[in-house]
Amino acid sequence: MGRPGSVLIVGGGIAGMTASAALAQQGFKVTLLEAAPAFGEIGAGLTLTPNAMKGLDFIGICEEAAAVGVEPTRQRIQHWRDGRTIVAFDRSTQRATYGAPYITVHRADLHDVMTAAARRAGVEMIAGAAVVASEGTSVTCADGRSFSADVLVGADGVKSIIRQRFEAAPPHFTGHVAWRCLVPVTPEIQDLSDFPGIIIGPGAMMNRYNVRGSRVMNFVFFARQEGWNEEGWTTPADPAELAAIFGHWCDDAQRLLAAATRQPLFKWAINARQPLDRWVLDGSVTLLGDAAHAMTPFLGHGAACGIEDAVVLARALAAADSAAQGLARYQAARHERATFIQLESNANADRMQGQDTDLFGMEGMKDEESLGLFTYDPRSVVV
Ligand SMILES: Cc1cc2nc3c(=O)[nH]c(=O)nc-3n(C[C@H](O)[C@H](O)[C@H](O)COP(=O)(O)OP(=O)(O)OC[C@H]3O[C@@H](n4cnc5c(N)ncnc54)[C@H](O)[C@@H]3O)c2cc1C
Repeated sequence: MGRPGSVLIVGGGIAGMTASAALAQQGFKVTLLEAAPAFGEIGAGLTLTPNAMKGLDFIGICEEAAAVGVEPTRQRIQHWRDGRTIVAFDRSTQRATYGAPYITVHRADLHDVMTAAARRAGVEMIAGAAVVASEGTSVTCADGRSFSADVLVGADGVKSIIRQRFEAAPPHFTGHVAWRCLVPVTPEIQDLSDFPGIIIGPGAMMNRYNVRGSRVMNFVFFARQEGWNEEGWTTPADPAELAAIFGHWCDDAQRLLAAATRQPLFKWAINARQPLDRWVLDGSVTLLGDAAHAMTPFLGHGAACGIEDAVVLARALAAADSAAQGLARYQAARHERATFIQLESNANADRMQGQDTDLFGMEGMKDEESLGLFTYDPRSVVV
């Protein structure tokens, strides 16, 4: 058998791009296929916690990513009715406590840093390559081209075509809809930028954080809704929908709404996956990122998990004598944690969007930090 020499990755999002750089740096010949005509990310923000940043450190871009992002010193959770702070988080000691920063960043800025790292590592990057079929470790694209390698990795997101080889079921609508926009920080909302956070209420919440040197804020608002389940970041939304949901919330919420109304607004129905029993097929095909474990975003950990997967996969394959052994080690190291985060993300929506906001946190805080997620280190977990 012997150590595999080549890896074919389908999907150049955050997970696939990280995996391509990590695997190439470990000496594998990596080909990365992306359906879109160019490599890039959409205009929205992302939180990356210290566990994910340790993954970026493994591929040498932790500080570069931190430099294009913002390191918040504090965050808070506010009550929908009067805006009072229910819980405040000191984020000023994240580096000292966990050995890596906590950042909020524009996705496109992060993706550019990742793409440069993958290029430097020698990844063969092919855009405009939409995979339509796959057999063994080979794939065929819509334009008829085909590609093959020793190992095939599906990093092709929640609607993964590679995942169809593991289960026929499509993703399911979670009952949550998200609205997002990017807003310039103006004097009217400067205080909301200085102390970012989440306003929580029954069945809905409003999240805001800084990107791009704190000159811009990313807004992402959530509500439980049935009847519309279109997944995708680019569906335009009507601000009147937000006014109907949040119009009776506190003054801070009204200032967020007013700022959002002046910007292009998009909505996204959140689709996710049930945990899969196994992530490895025939000892040579695997999944990572949303293709493996698409989750609700209520712990802000989907991309973080994809980065962790990528680093652990590269380490596991590099340490193994065969593809089958490497992939088995990858699954053994990652499956339990990813499944735990997937399930806890759903539970966190229930905690944050409970019918009686006054009860929030009464039984002790359970969030991404108190659940212990930040202490994980993909650079050193046993593979
Ligand atoms: C509202 C919202 C907020 C979120 N906030 C956070 C957060 O703060 N922190 C966090 O860690 N996570 C967050 N997430 C989750 C995070 O966005 C995802 O988990 C992450 O982007 C998944 O990355 P991925 O690379 O696995 O998949 P994707 O980003 O979906 O990338 C898949 C790539 O594969 C390509 N592709 C698809 N099909 C094919 C094909 N057939 N052939 C070739 N290429 C293909 C796609 O074009 C795409 O580029 C959030 C999610 C949502 C919805």
